[in-house]
Amino acid sequence: MARIIPLTDARMLVAAAPAAPRAAAPFMPTGELADSRGRFLRDLRISVTDRCNFRCVYCMPKEVFGRDYPFLPHAELLTFEEIVRLARIFKAHGVEKIRLTGGEPLLRKNLERLVAMLAEIDGLDLTLTTNGALLAKKARALKDAGLNRVTVSLDALDDGVFRAMNDVDFPVSRVLDGIEAAAAAGLQPVKVNMVVKRGVNDSEILPMARHFRSSGHILRFIEYMDVGHTNGWRMDDVVPSAEVIRMIGREFPLEPADANYPGEVAGRWRYLDSSGAGEIGVISSVTQAFCSNCTRARLATDGKLYTCLFATQGYDLRALLRGGSTDDAIANYLAAVWSQRGDRYSEIRSERTKALPKVEMSYIGG
Ligand code: SAM
Repeated sequence: MARIIPLTDARMLVAAAPAAPRAAAPFMPTGELADSRGRFLRDLRISVTDRCNFRCVYCMPKEVFGRDYPFLPHAELLTFEEIVRLARIFKAHGVEKIRLTGGEPLLRKNLERLVAMLAEIDGLDLTLTTNGALLAKKARALKDAGLNRVTVSLDALDDGVFRAMNDVDFPVSRVLDGIEAAAAAGLQPVKVNMVVKRGVNDSEILPMARHFRSSGHILRFIEYMDVGHTNGWRMDDVVPSAEVIRMIGREFPLEPADANYPGEVAGRWRYLDSSGAGEIGVISSVTQAFCSNCTRARLATDGKLYTCLFATQGYDLRALLRGGSTDDAIANYLAAVWSQRGDRYSEIRSERTKALPKVEMSYIGG
């Protein structure tokens, strides 16, 4: 019998979003915009498409994201010019890093043109998260356009496990080729993100660690999260980072390493072997929430601004862009939204919060 999964369509939620917060008096951005908990705006994730060529069972399951799924029509996506205009405004308010994501960002036509346009904004760290399927083909052009680094999602080295997880029978060898092409193009260090789901790919933790240990790429283990409503998340499916560290540490002793910068979300661990090279990271968004350091905003594919991955309400920046608002007015609006931000979902997560309405990661940007 077909499995019925309750689906919350983010676009319906957005329709119920509150009216725009009112900004006080207009003011000039200072690059030091703090929210109600004192967190500055520093990172922006931009979802450039809600489409993906994978159907990862925990993210875009086929039963929901099937042939008939109403992906956004092209006219509803922000144009490259709109994205760049917003990027400049976010930068003025303190954003230092922009990550392009999706969906699968490499599916967005001429993405390298967007990268080149964003690269003209001085002082931005420009990165991209991809499933790697098209990376071998695109790595060089992305680097030439001005991209600094990439993060590649890869949940298993075993071809059978990987194909079952991406659910489109995509071979692991092509993602590995993409990773090498990215490194060869200079998009380094390549970060490799593995979402660990108990009973599905936890058997791949050690093979992944062995494979990437001396590769120069940084492997990071991500706790499986209750994003969206389509993945049927249960706390039992989560493999805590502490368990991952113990498991790897038994084979390759590890020591904790300092964060690269304040607020880094991944906990860093260094291999203690003689070569001294190599580290892993753990992103413990379930067992050790990092809301108190979260400096990240998300721009969904249709231009809605979200202040948390688990937010239910988006603020419609596209309406402002297309409604003739000036840059100052948009900057002012952004300041009002961010300064009222109080999100800390992961700190209050429980079996009960998993039922709260949330938007899908493919739409809001992973
Ligand atoms: N298509 C790109 C990719 O595969 O990297 C970018 C979008 S994808 C939504 C971004 C990341 O979110 C991937 O690493 C994916 O594994 C991760 N992700 C999706 N659902 C997740 C969940 N429930 N918990 C933790 N990570 C998740």
